[in-house]
Amino acid sequence: MSQVIYARVPDVLKDAVDEYRTERGTTLTSAVVDLLERGLVSTSDAPSVAELELSLATTSAQKTEAEASLRSARLELQTLRSLSERTSQTLGRCPRPDCSRPITGYDLLVTGHCPYCKQALTDLLRLKAPQPEADSDQSRPGGVSERDFLLLLGALGAVVGVAYLTSKS
Ligand SMILES: [Zn+2]
Repeated sequence: MSQVIYARVPDVLKDAVDEYRTERGTTLTSAVVDLLERGLVSTSDAPSVAELELSLATTSAQKTEAEASLRSARLELQTLRSLSERTSQTLGRCPRPDCSRPITGYDLLVTGHCPYCKQALTDLLRLKAPQPEADSDQSRPGGVSERDFLLLLGALGAVVGVAYLTSKS
């Protein structure tokens, strides 16, 4: 079944349709039907193209967000890793003279006692006033290396800093 459409078209359009028809060696009617069908299909596809573009924009925004989260997570992991490494290092020795085994940042800050004799380590956290020469021996039993302790505090501070920045974002 078919019907007739009477339509007046500009010369340019008529010439273009003739060219299309000649190129394909088809009739004017077939050429017009073919072109009209294609035009209708692309018109009905238009909304879905807009939807695709919107979805693409949303996806790339989500990707950017995910990349930022990944960067921030990597930074947090790196900071935690360096704290963990710093925490497992020997800071000093057990204050009990008959023990004097190595004490780590973990023992000092987390468990609070010597892992061998269970001696409480809270005294080691008491910061001493700086004394010249005599106190500089870091391997002295019962002492904590001030330098190592400050490095541990620095690593701890970095973790607190990252946590703070994360809570702000
Ligand atoms: Zn001990």
